[in-house]
Amino acid sequence: MRKQIAAANWKMNLNLPQATSLVADICSTPIDLEENQRVIFAVPFPYLVSINQMIETRDKFLTAAQNCSDKKSGAYTGEVSAEMLHSINVGYCIVGHSERREYFGETNFVLREKINQCLDHDICPIFCCGEALPVRERGGQNELVELQLNESLFHLKADQLTKIIIAYEPVWAIGTGKTATATQAQEMHAYIRWLLKNQYGESAAELVPILYGGSVKAGNAKELFDCDDVDGGLVGGASLVPADFIKIIRSLKF
Ligand code: PEP
Repeated sequence: MRKQIAAANWKMNLNLPQATSLVADICSTPIDLEENQRVIFAVPFPYLVSINQMIETRDKFLTAAQNCSDKKSGAYTGEVSAEMLHSINVGYCIVGHSERREYFGETNFVLREKINQCLDHDICPIFCCGEALPVRERGGQNELVELQLNESLFHLKADQLTKIIIAYEPVWAIGTGKTATATQAQEMHAYIRWLLKNQYGESAAELVPILYGGSVKAGNAKELFDCDDVDGGLVGGASLVPADFIKIIRSLKF
């Protein structure tokens, strides 16, 4: 059965006391997770060890980094490698968030290397794809997402593909309060799954969780997550508010 995931992307927010208080609030709330459900906290690098300790006793709560280097190791001051993440028991890493593509010039080819680094070190990449507004306005979203997958993922073998998570995040919906409708999200998720199926066959394609990201809120999560090919969400702003994120987790389908 495919995993259903609520992933929090804190971005560059919260100091350490604020971060631990947020996780403590969520951990003190009883949340029943089904066998296939996971909650992932993508937190800034300096907090990974502390947050990992805090969630240690919570089955199905996990941490993610928000980025990693495309290089294995060496003289790359300021970078963090996938191997380092693995050594501190981090099992997931966001790769190719649109903010990294836009502000840090990350190309599909650099992201392909990051994907390789993650998989080489047993880190599950959460690969972000999605179109900006002008692309959506001219109807080019399918073509753009196909290119992103083609250039960053489709060199993988089928057994590697099933170790990744994809997050469809239309750039025009990130942090804007403007959410894709459930129909728009389902259409793109079904298209992504069709691309995976064409490339890797049905059984591999059916195993890959595809998350929706872009102004997921407590009030719209259920409608989005109920779509057949939407396997949960990558959540920015609303993941910083414990009550909202808890409601979003509870909106996951079985
Ligand atoms: C994100 O950071 O990936 C995101 C989707 O942000 P928000 O939920 O705030 O739009």
